[in-house]
Amino acid sequence: MRIFRFAPSPNGPLHLGHALSACLNADLADAAGGRFLLRMEDIDLARCRPEFERAISADLHWLGLSWEEPVRRQSEHLDDYRAALDRLDTMGLVYPSFLTRAEIRERTTDPAWPRGPDGAPLYPGDDRDLSPAEALGRIEAGEPYALRLRMAEALRRGGPLTFFETGAGPSGETGRIEARPERWGDVILARKEIPTSYHLSVVVDDALQGVTDVVRGEDLFHATAVHRLLQVLLGLPEPTYRHHALIYDAPGRKLSKSDGDTGLAELREAGISPGDIRRRIGLLRP
Ligand code: GLU
Repeated sequence: MRIFRFAPSPNGPLHLGHALSACLNADLADAAGGRFLLRMEDIDLARCRPEFERAISADLHWLGLSWEEPVRRQSEHLDDYRAALDRLDTMGLVYPSFLTRAEIRERTTDPAWPRGPDGAPLYPGDDRDLSPAEALGRIEAGEPYALRLRMAEALRRGGPLTFFETGAGPSGETGRIEARPERWGDVILARKEIPTSYHLSVVVDDALQGVTDVVRGEDLFHATAVHRLLQVLLGLPEPTYRHHALIYDAPGRKLSKSDGDTGLAELREAGISPGDIRRRIGLLRP
């Protein structure tokens, strides 16, 4: 049976872009006679709030969607992510990194410094070769750190990689696509205060929940390469991917959670119907 999921972060109100992701997943699950899950990606405890979670459920119910209960809340499953992290650590693929954001900025000012698909400079990797004793000493002294993947080593074990795209990426790529996680460098897998990251938890959860079809916005297209690498390293199954186009507001700006005029709650209060929303996001003919 095919399993789809909508996985918002409850750190703000939903907008039209979320409506597209949620409705598309629910419609595809329905058409396939499959299951539709809702997952709260709330590992960022500083930004995620129960009131946003309640608002998300209210907006999705208003859109006419229903999903299986209980909803998986990532903050309640940190042990699952820790286990995956330990496994990668046992394989020698994890190291603690100590450079602060400012230090990373200073070291990467050279315009030729490589940047990831999100435009951020790749991690300089200063601490890749710290001795275990020194790294442990700094952790025990209370220094902030992030646990990172040794990308080159991980690729030696897990590469070469591909993923199957049933939609189209930002440049129209479709079908079996080469995944190049090395473009991201040594990605963060966990932080001092939280034993996971977006990449790690999404991969662990999709596998634990048996997700067969990942349908999400094309802003996450390039992240898929990292997800495939983690799936291979952790021995997890490969879902198919469908990245949908993002919804832009009139001036061609990506929607953000702070844009009141495209928020679902505002649109509902303004008298817009769920059918109007479906027409606006292209899921119903005008
Ligand atoms: N939680 C992510 C977001 O809200 C989506 C994760 C995913 O669909 O893989 O952008």
